[in-house]
Amino acid sequence: MTKAEYDNLCDELRYHMNLYYNEDEPEISDYEYDMLMQKLKSAEKEHPEWITPDSPSQKVEFKREAGIKVTHDVPMLSIEDVFTKEDVCSWVDKVKRMHKDCTFSVETKIDGLSATFRYRKKDDGKLHFDLCETRGDGLVGEDVTVNAKVLSDVKKTIDLPFDSLQIRGEIYMTHEDFEKYNEEQEKAGKKQAANPRNLAAGTFKLLDPKVVKKRGLRLFVFNVQDAPAELKNNHINALDLLESKGVPVVWHKICSTSEEVVNAIDEIADMRSSLGYDIDGAVVKINETIYRDDFPAGSKYSSGHIAYKYPPEERDVVMDDIIVDVGRTGKLTFTGIFHDRETGKTAKLCGTNVSKATLHNQEYINEMSIGIGGTYKVFKSGEIIPKLNGCVEKPKEVFKAPDRCPICGSHLIRENAVDIVCENPYCQAQTLRNIAYFTSINCMNILGLGESIIDSLIKAGYLKNYADLYILKDHRDELIEKGIIGKADYTDKILKSIEDSKSNDAVALLTGLAIRNVGKGAAKDIMKHFHDIRTLMNATKEELTSVNDIGETTANCIIEFFNDQNAKDIIDRFESYGLNLAMKEDENFSEKLNGLTIVVTGTLPTLGRKEVQELIEKNGGKCTGSVSKKTSLLVAGEAAGSKLTKAQTLGIKIIDEAELLRMINE
Ligand SMILES: [Zn+2]
Repeated sequence: MTKAEYDNLCDELRYHMNLYYNEDEPEISDYEYDMLMQKLKSAEKEHPEWITPDSPSQKVEFKREAGIKVTHDVPMLSIEDVFTKEDVCSWVDKVKRMHKDCTFSVETKIDGLSATFRYRKKDDGKLHFDLCETRGDGLVGEDVTVNAKVLSDVKKTIDLPFDSLQIRGEIYMTHEDFEKYNEEQEKAGKKQAANPRNLAAGTFKLLDPKVVKKRGLRLFVFNVQDAPAELKNNHINALDLLESKGVPVVWHKICSTSEEVVNAIDEIADMRSSLGYDIDGAVVKINETIYRDDFPAGSKYSSGHIAYKYPPEERDVVMDDIIVDVGRTGKLTFTGIFHDRETGKTAKLCGTNVSKATLHNQEYINEMSIGIGGTYKVFKSGEIIPKLNGCVEKPKEVFKAPDRCPICGSHLIRENAVDIVCENPYCQAQTLRNIAYFTSINCMNILGLGESIIDSLIKAGYLKNYADLYILKDHRDELIEKGIIGKADYTDKILKSIEDSKSNDAVALLTGLAIRNVGKGAAKDIMKHFHDIRTLMNATKEELTSVNDIGETTANCIIEFFNDQNAKDIIDRFESYGLNLAMKEDENFSEKLNGLTIVVTGTLPTLGRKEVQELIEKNGGKCTGSVSKKTSLLVAGEAAGSKLTKAQTLGIKIIDEAELLRMINE
């Protein structure tokens, strides 16, 4: 990475940080963000001299985690799961054999995020809320007090005569608030949340009390973490006392036999769908806390506790329709639309409405005998995405995918064992995929232009194909005004990186055209032979197959691609914009490094990291990032670190830049 690329990356990260933290509307997924940050960190590892206090990696207020770490006074452990009622009974019976007088608390297990609340006595003799900490790794969590303060369920004072108190609860979101949020997101054309738990957790870690308040998080307390013995000794008495002081506590029932415990578990199952919030099980706790340590469950789990996981709720649904669409990646997608067989209305699962499920692909459809009129079992897996779970009554006819693209009418082809894709590179449904590929690092390497921006540009009508990228600059003011790419600075940066990409070599451009079967390797071989995309456009099948590694199939793909008038127009446009259709004269290719896998480490005397990589690849070598047994050569420069040591250990040949250049130029 060059310093300029590093600076660009810093700007890009700052842009996304601002969207995430200040605007609360991220454009990229957490994963994409993490990848960018990884890229930044590895660049900084290689060039520590680039880091400034201003670098996104250094800014504390930009940390994705909530912030200040807090070590828990009492570890926040998990509860061991059991999946059958037999297991519940045998555990209860085991406890009873040791302690005849033992009782149990059976409680709802709220599906949210766990937090501990600390209270301290003040001059008025009452307990005052002092600190809220997330679970973290169970031993160390994060201080989220500012968020907890805005929750109406968190009592600011509790009228109990203790010096201090620590209680643990689950922060959750009701189905109603969750659906309200998603409706608003949908109206605003923004991404919807997958489930209440993720949304609650994401919100609570934002450290933005305004947002927390607006989204309406709730709390149920389920445990006393630390308190005087008189409160701690009897769990249910403690919950009841807290409840009498206005603290919201989980639904709980006292039981003394395994039969009563199982009945209470069934009672929770019956009310589950009408609770208005998600639960992911029932917890059985030894009520007399003093007995709990006699039943340890390992260092990760609370002793004297088990959690019974309910099997997923199921409904029988009738398939009304199957909708075929082309996904953003060009793949055909199938969505089943159904209604509840019993009620004739939308199916209700875990309190939420379920009317459709993804049907994956034709294989899945065949296997499950999916067709209109058939009846299927549907459940929510992990309470999130509804899934079909077997066929109850077969349809008259199993659904068959169309043989033409539902968007553009072109032929569909099978890309691999299961996926069907539209073969038309100009199909509207594939625009995003093609443009994103064109801008990717293996092709034109247009920095900062991520999928979400491309998507917005397509939706706003600025991009119909990759050639349109080069006329975006004509709409600069409009783009800034509408904020489609970002503010002025960022828009200019992106437009500049598009402009800069014009000087890329013809191999990058040919790769970016996304001709089927013509990846970067094939594009190199082809350009080595034809030198000019114009010449390639007129090549015959015989000429094409005479190129190393180009078979008949690939030759046909190339001919077919350039036969299309759209493609011809686009090449003309590229030429008029000043892109390189031909290889520059100094770009000599060789096969001198053929078959060699090469790793570069340290700082080389004259060549930058990207330059040396290009040089190796142009001469037939393969550049990889880490040393392994498969590495043929290590090119080591100054300050080479662990890669050098590893290469030495593995007995891999180590050379310097001069020797690499000799190998190529000899
Ligand atoms: Zn199509």
